[in-house]
Amino acid sequence: MINFKSIVYTLCIFFMVSCVTEKKETNEEMIKTNDYAEDSHSYAKPNEAVAKHLLLDIEVNFDQKIITGSATYTIEHENASSIVFDVKNLKINRVVVDGKEVTFKLGEENPILGQSLTVPVKKDSKEVAITYETTAQTEALQFLNPQQTADKTHPFLLTQGQAILTRTWIPIQDSPQLRLTYTAHVKVPKELLAIMSAENPKEKNDSGIYSFEMKQPISPYLIALAVGDLVYKEISPRTGVYAEKSMIEKVHYEFADMEKMVKAAEGLYGEYAWEQFDVVVLPPSFPFGGMENPRLTFATPTVIAGDRSLTSLVAHELAHSWSGNLVTNATWNDFWLNEGFTVYFEMRIMEALYGKEYANMLASISRQDLAEEIENFHDQAEATRLKLDLKGKNPDDGMNSIAYDKGYLFLRALEEHVGREKMDAFLKQYFTEHAFSTMTTERFVNYMNEELLLKNNIAFNYDKWIYKAGIPGNAVKIQSDKFEKVDKVLADWRYKTIEASEVCAQDWNIQQKIHFIRNIPEDLYDGLFEKLDAACNYTHATNSYIAMVWFEQAINHDYHGNNVDEQIENFLMNVGRRWYVSTIYKALKRNNRLEEAKKIYAKARPNYHSVTVNTIDEMLGVSY
Ligand SMILES: [Zn+2]
Repeated sequence: MINFKSIVYTLCIFFMVSCVTEKKETNEEMIKTNDYAEDSHSYAKPNEAVAKHLLLDIEVNFDQKIITGSATYTIEHENASSIVFDVKNLKINRVVVDGKEVTFKLGEENPILGQSLTVPVKKDSKEVAITYETTAQTEALQFLNPQQTADKTHPFLLTQGQAILTRTWIPIQDSPQLRLTYTAHVKVPKELLAIMSAENPKEKNDSGIYSFEMKQPISPYLIALAVGDLVYKEISPRTGVYAEKSMIEKVHYEFADMEKMVKAAEGLYGEYAWEQFDVVVLPPSFPFGGMENPRLTFATPTVIAGDRSLTSLVAHELAHSWSGNLVTNATWNDFWLNEGFTVYFEMRIMEALYGKEYANMLASISRQDLAEEIENFHDQAEATRLKLDLKGKNPDDGMNSIAYDKGYLFLRALEEHVGREKMDAFLKQYFTEHAFSTMTTERFVNYMNEELLLKNNIAFNYDKWIYKAGIPGNAVKIQSDKFEKVDKVLADWRYKTIEASEVCAQDWNIQQKIHFIRNIPEDLYDGLFEKLDAACNYTHATNSYIAMVWFEQAINHDYHGNNVDEQIENFLMNVGRRWYVSTIYKALKRNNRLEEAKKIYAKARPNYHSVTVNTIDEMLGVSY
């Protein structure tokens, strides 16, 4: 970003005349430049006063399952009388401005947003220190008992900030456009290691106190902490993995290509800006596949398949180091700018490493996900636009396949229209020019218009993609030769030209197996589904992705053989990844097994993170 103050100064020295007028105009311009997008999911008033640096000083208390400590902010403002933070389910004990305790005000509580925390400031106020503690309702945190971890000997803590949960464990101006740097001191029990989305320790120390520094300004949702009995293993000088001891070798094997991925990504869109790229593999209750916390991606253990078959997840999280972390959606209505670009980028990394056909298979899966999501939204067409209006709603509602897969399909259509060379040059320029800043959909559209379309004299109907529902007619057809072969086997098996054993004997990779299982039609000859499982034993698949899609099909086909119901229950009890468990609960509900779903859920719910709980509570219509 251009620093306006230094430009004014240089202009004044250079021209020496009419500096006062010059300065006045530039000041007005400066205010315009600082104009933040309206964010209906934050109470902060950044145009009045904004926090630029956070000093976090906290202690993690595993006995009480709380975090206590203080958040001290360096603030910037011009004559503001107050600064407003976001808080949710936090106990605020004391607020001090420049060393003097002040009377703060907590606003009315909103079930989605939480409360505003208004702190009075004076003209020259520079520092606000908030002493606080988290509560049992704090949604970002998940405290796990030893039984819920891989090693089963020590407790674990993980945080999940996206979309608006950071305010539940740190009082903060919680809008993605309000980037800040941070320093943290975290005290944990001596037998545990703390790591954050920052420069990290590689081993435990004797004091149990760890210090962190994130020098680059990041969005609040990217502040993250994990605490557990973790060890580190390097892959290359700038990449490596953290995991519990019993997992570390498997994790290290699974993600062995990380350095190659970083190099491939840099080859596409420029230098990796965050120095270090590590992944921590968390216990199975982690609600997402991965979370792109800068320098330290958080990942689910469900991708540790033993054969490196699900590592596109790492490519995805790595891609976020550009789309999302470097250039960030300004508000949650612009979420597709984070995810659509990232899926596009992920496919390009996978193509660079494993070839076009592999990327096409991933793209075909994404295309099918999108078709199903659009079907899910058949009565809410507006939810299938890329640019959303989530005012009054939980931003989590927008975190679905539309942002990811329609976003991808748009960029793929754009690429095929303008040509790869122009597309890559444009994207590289986009990331370079907007590094460490935030982007609204409108600003992106203007930029794309000027720097890609007008510049090259190309017409492209992006309007329909971004602002209209459904999939426009200029979408490209995704084609995979390997999937076409799978379709042929599927048809032969379905019409009994081949036996189930011949299906299992195919030399297929995970994506082909997924494609086969997902596309098993509803109407089959009697006994065919049973015979398939008898031959291939998908019910006991060790690959969690295969298990998930198979369980969905088993439910759809009213299949109960091979102890599948017990396997489904086990899976739901042990895995907390939202996409996986919600797919299975949804299938149970759809197939008139709601009571059974509720019974399993009542037992499994304590194992899930609040992000998963909120989704499943609503899906099954339960509240606790
Ligand atoms: Zn993502």
